[in-house]
Amino acid sequence: MTVTITDVQTILTQPDNSRLIIVKVTTSEPGLYGLGCATFTQRFHAVHAAIEKHIKPFVLGRDVSRIEAIWQMAMVHGYWRNGPVLNNAISGIDMALWDIKGKQAGMPLYQLLGGKCREGAAVYVHTDGRDPQEVEDRVRQVMAEGYRFIRVQMGGYGGQGAAMVKPEGAPDGAYFDPRDYARSMLKMIEHMRITFGEEVELLHDVHERLHPIHAIQFAKDVEPFKLFFLEDILAPEDIKWFEQLRRQCSTPIAMGELFNHPREWQPLISGRLIDFIRMHVSQMGGITPARNVAAFANMYNIRTAWHGPGDTSPVGHAANLHLDLWAPSFGIQEWCRFPELVYEMFPGLPEVRDGYMYPNDQPGLGIDIDERLAAKYPCQDAVEWWTQARLPDGSPARP
Ligand code: MG
Repeated sequence: MTVTITDVQTILTQPDNSRLIIVKVTTSEPGLYGLGCATFTQRFHAVHAAIEKHIKPFVLGRDVSRIEAIWQMAMVHGYWRNGPVLNNAISGIDMALWDIKGKQAGMPLYQLLGGKCREGAAVYVHTDGRDPQEVEDRVRQVMAEGYRFIRVQMGGYGGQGAAMVKPEGAPDGAYFDPRDYARSMLKMIEHMRITFGEEVELLHDVHERLHPIHAIQFAKDVEPFKLFFLEDILAPEDIKWFEQLRRQCSTPIAMGELFNHPREWQPLISGRLIDFIRMHVSQMGGITPARNVAAFANMYNIRTAWHGPGDTSPVGHAANLHLDLWAPSFGIQEWCRFPELVYEMFPGLPEVRDGYMYPNDQPGLGIDIDERLAAKYPCQDAVEWWTQARLPDGSPARP
């Protein structure tokens, strides 16, 4: 008998810093439901409305087995497509349907994708500090916890150290100086490589903080320090510059957390212009498109490094893990080390031991949510501060 979607529930919760959006799809089979991540933390009300008012009425009554068909139709049903709000809303349904299919099959999701290529997914974690010494101390701490891949940042996304001279009447904001950023990060990365030798893999996220030609200079400057990858060296709006970058240095490049349209990643993969794709899986529309892109990238020997900070929900992290275990072209997984409360709220949240993330081998995504506990931590409304980035003269900049 056909199993159909009987309800879609949007669960908003904020157990830690990020506002999380979890979608629960219930079915006509008693006790059978699935969970999906639809987390766009800065615009959670918009995603909530998109699910409740548009996507839910569209999917109610549909056959849960038709994941691909539902995804394809959901993407064009609004005619205008490929945006962060609707992609996340569609992801909530898509992941939940994969979760349901796994539960029906009695198999973990990685089995449905083609089975494991590896037993655990190697992860990288973040370190930060006010100066190179503090960053070094943090790196030592996480190395002692077993991590071998470590993202090194200084002062958040950096560039605040300069004695900035602002014009009179400059507005408030999260100011940074791109030139100071490039100088101070280069020194910090050099310090890490000299201090730790070759024993640790270092990663760094530029967060699109440089003008394109300075970004190319920076990628060349850090080349001798053999980063595992350099992330978001250019903005999605500047992807044509990757051709120039590639001709000038061999620093490995990771890109993609801001992508939401296939035209953004297609030319970078087919042109062999990047080395790691690191989309935010819910932001690109869920497991269905992520699986396709991982297979496409594999044909070019480009590896995966799915976005996995605190604003990827635990359900999203579980989806990342299943993709990681299967993907022939897996590279690395970003990991945010959730506090204990999040483990309590999301039973089955993947565990990390000695630098590897492991599944629990339950059917589907293998993760659940304690809805009563989630309700005790409602999302807080706030006008985001860190994304109000400004250059030293006060002009708005990409955060
Ligand atoms: Mg990033």
